[in-house]
Amino acid sequence: MNPKRSLILTVCVTILIIISVTLKWPLNIDFGRHNQEAKPNVAITPILNPTSNPASPPPLPSNNLNEPKMSKFPEEGVPVLMYHSISTIPGNSLGVPVKQFTEEIEWLHQQNYHSLSLEEFNQALTNKAPIPEKPILLTFDDGYEDNYSSAWPILHQNGYRATFFIVTNSVGPGMMNWDQINDLASQGNSIGSHTVHHLDLSKLSSKQQENELSISKQELVNHLDISVQALCFPSGRYNKTTPKLMSKLGYKLGFTTHPGKVHLSDDLSTLKRIRISGGMPLASFQKLFP
Ligand SMILES: [Zn+2]
Repeated sequence: MNPKRSLILTVCVTILIIISVTLKWPLNIDFGRHNQEAKPNVAITPILNPTSNPASPPPLPSNNLNEPKMSKFPEEGVPVLMYHSISTIPGNSLGVPVKQFTEEIEWLHQQNYHSLSLEEFNQALTNKAPIPEKPILLTFDDGYEDNYSSAWPILHQNGYRATFFIVTNSVGPGMMNWDQINDLASQGNSIGSHTVHHLDLSKLSSKQQENELSISKQELVNHLDISVQALCFPSGRYNKTTPKLMSKLGYKLGFTTHPGKVHLSDDLSTLKRIRISGGMPLASFQKLFP
């Protein structure tokens, strides 16, 4: 090759390198920035179907929820949040709109709260097992279908898991089906009983109560192949017989609607929870976590 051709070739290669470098770097930087800046404004569409796009970025940057600092049970108590339907139900505060729910979960994530499994919560209460700092238990009553289609994608995206209390006779249309409940259980969520028929336990005979507790537990075991640790009282109602039946049937934790946080000294068969209502302003939600 003569010197002139060699020079031209060198110049061409250099130009190509410069073009490739100048093109590539800005592209990468913009892509990263785009993801970070877009995150807080992410609409519901990508959240609702997080697995549909394998190229989508991880939920939130700098997620250090995977390696929490372990700690003893906090003296100020552990908040157990109580949700029902994640939807807009006009005139009914049991429905928490998706937008409100998303803001609450994302805020908890930003504040570095760690969601517990029911088993972790139980071990912390019964055996004083260490739990992550800033622990929280997220519970959903009744088994609404939107728990699976709307709540779970948001929880999952924020690295959270939850406990779902199922009314076994209501599984099916309008509510979660067994496949959906099974899918939740297989992804690290906990499932508990909310009885068979969602009746007021305080008004049932001992035998009727026992049926509600034992049949629902057996149904969950049969369909999900899990160990059922917890019972959630329909409408928070129970009587003196209920805790006795719980221990007879192998339930370790009972959840009420009495307001407050759970402390280490509490009676495990009547645990308090914090109700989250539809329409609650984010500032009021934040005040629950001083
Ligand atoms: Zn209920």
